[in-house]
Amino acid sequence: MKYISTRGNAPELTFEEAMLTGLARDGGLYVPETIPTLSKDEIAAMAGLSYEEVAFRVMKPFIGDTFTDEEFKGIIARAYANFRHDARAPLVQLGPNHFLMELFHGPTLAFKDFAMQLIGQLFQFSLARRNERVTIVGATSGDTGSAAIEAFRGLDNVDVFILFPDGRVSDIQRKQMTTPADANVHALAMEGDFDDCQAKLKDMFNDFEFRDGVKLAGVNSINWARVLAQVVYYFTTAVSLGAPARNISFTVPTGNFGDIFAGYIAKKMGLPIDRLVIATNQNDILHRTMETAAYTKEGVTPSISPSMDIQVSSNFERALFYAYGGDGNAVAQLMEELKEGSFSISQGAMESLRDHFDSGRTSEAETVETIKWGFTHTGEVLCPHSACGVKVANQHLNETPMITLATAHPAKFPDAVENAIGVRPALPPHMQDMMDKPERVTKVPNELEHLKTLIKDRIAAR
Ligand SMILES: *Cc1c(COP(=O)(O)O)cnc(C)c1O
Repeated sequence: MKYISTRGNAPELTFEEAMLTGLARDGGLYVPETIPTLSKDEIAAMAGLSYEEVAFRVMKPFIGDTFTDEEFKGIIARAYANFRHDARAPLVQLGPNHFLMELFHGPTLAFKDFAMQLIGQLFQFSLARRNERVTIVGATSGDTGSAAIEAFRGLDNVDVFILFPDGRVSDIQRKQMTTPADANVHALAMEGDFDDCQAKLKDMFNDFEFRDGVKLAGVNSINWARVLAQVVYYFTTAVSLGAPARNISFTVPTGNFGDIFAGYIAKKMGLPIDRLVIATNQNDILHRTMETAAYTKEGVTPSISPSMDIQVSSNFERALFYAYGGDGNAVAQLMEELKEGSFSISQGAMESLRDHFDSGRTSEAETVETIKWGFTHTGEVLCPHSACGVKVANQHLNETPMITLATAHPAKFPDAVENAIGVRPALPPHMQDMMDKPERVTKVPNELEHLKTLIKDRIAAR
């Protein structure tokens, strides 16, 4: 299986190369040259299997012969061994025909663990056998950073630097990044917002001398291996509700479009998904795009669902690539226009997007109302991100079963939840001592040269 860039102008890579690289050298994102499909019988045969077994069957066609079957099964087993629920992604019911997929039973209590724990194991295996080291630099609005640090801390062949917007992540998110004592972990609190962090990350990747010098690797949701890991739970949950004999719809709290894009891949692989509903918070660029066909940057307004506070949604580029029939030049041109602040999507591409995706937005007040609604009507305590999803899903219910993705544990956002329902959600016991541990963090300015020097110095000192 070969991987190609969404901008059509970077070398083709193997799965392993695409995984270790992250962003393509033409600024694009890697996608598989073709999307493998599974037959109805193959999907039906997943009923009743373990999460790990389904993960193997779904991901295997994308990795080709990168690993032997036995090696890949070992990697998957180690990745999910630290989850605290045997189903990994259990479903609970919220109402008639409405289900919640709980994706917060991993080590850092957010769905990012599904991809990051797998990537940690994949990197460790690949780097050890290639006898290589890499420097991972990630930008985070909160959950990616903690999930990456948890997945890579203590590994011999990796340094992990995480840029997060100073003062704009929750206390718990920050502590998850700043309390691990491992020498290969570097938490960087940058001035600015998440988009500034993400822009600096892109600049580092586009500086080839630096990129090659420190062997930069990206684990943001632009990394194809992360998308792939997330395809799996669409299969496990849809099959548990009767797919492929029945269609299923999903609503996904969305920021960078990685999670919902994985659902689109599941659909392309043959899973009978009816609607994929994009749920945004007040930072609603994707909802506006679906309504108006104009993708227009506006400033970020901080919300109580900070992991969705973005104005540029990087994985949307992958959706555009497919909507434009795989035309990398067209995508490259849109991205060029975006530098000026906006681009318009052609009518044909817009029709193609609307064939699969619906959208809705949630205001701050509606998020709070929905946390209350969930608690009163179902007993489920929703995190603010999951509440955005539930609110939008409630507007899209019909005869097709709807699964809303619960992307984080409510205890990661205790203030917002307590404000809504008057109950402060408790951290699981294994995390309670974290709040008292000393923090290690470096404040950094929003300046490329400063960041590059800091990273080089830290690596040299190890
Ligand atoms: C990252 C994140 C999201 C957004 O996911 P994307 O893949 O970026 O769309 C939503 N909720 C939570 C809790 C997250 O951590």
